Amino acid sequence: MARPVEAGFKGARRRLVETLQDKGIKDLGVLRAIDLVPRHLFVPESTRHRAYEDAALPIGAGQTISQPYVHARALELLQLRGAEKVLEIGTGSAYQTALLAELAAQVFSIERVPSLLDKSRALLAELGVRNVSLLLGDGTLGWRDFAPFDAIVVGAGAPRVPPALEEQLAEGGRLLLPIGDRDEQVLAVFTKVGGQLERRDITPVRFVPLIGAGGWPPG
Ligand code: SAH
Repeated sequence: MARPVEAGFKGARRRLVETLQDKGIKDLGVLRAIDLVPRHLFVPESTRHRAYEDAALPIGAGQTISQPYVHARALELLQLRGAEKVLEIGTGSAYQTALLAELAAQVFSIERVPSLLDKSRALLAELGVRNVSLLLGDGTLGWRDFAPFDAIVVGAGAPRVPPALEEQLAEGGRLLLPIGDRDEQVLAVFTKVGGQLERRDITPVRFVPLIGAGGWPPG
């Protein structure tokens, strides 16, 4: 991260890391990324003082930045080692995008709301994050030009696995997807083994709906 860190926020961020450790997050790479990425810059100014609480916050356009614990748990499940090519659906605030940029080689992230994508593009440039490519569009269709992906992480809830995402996942790759109904889901991790997805359910979650051809209809 190119921007100098403000001292007050640094202390708050360290305390958040400790909170996440207390809640059972063990992956040192994930904890380090959370210690590095300035979450207060990814939330609206009016909620900046709450940026390092372990809580979800509104980010505009009816969307939310997830609770840090949820991001940490999701990233831990991906077991990234640094060399991976990752696809993210639902850039939102780009906070998780910035965490992924610390944990993987290349990140491709798709967002359907133009105002959120514009903000994310400006912030990631300002922070000097270079290994992220952003796309405006329907992420349920994936990003065919750069497939296959070693990991795919979906930041919105879907009724089923979007077929394009299944196709674009590499053999041995992991797909993380909140799956269920429109307002309650289970966080599931799918691993592609012999061309088939093996599913493991992790925990009940509440994500905003994944809107698109392979997700829910708008409205
Ligand atoms: N990880 C993000 C989560 C944002 S909320 C963060 O912490 O900030 C989920 C995001 O998914 C929203 O911004 C929403 O607009 C976006 N989204 C929903 N359906 C989508 C789709 N089909 N393609 C791309 N983005 C989508």
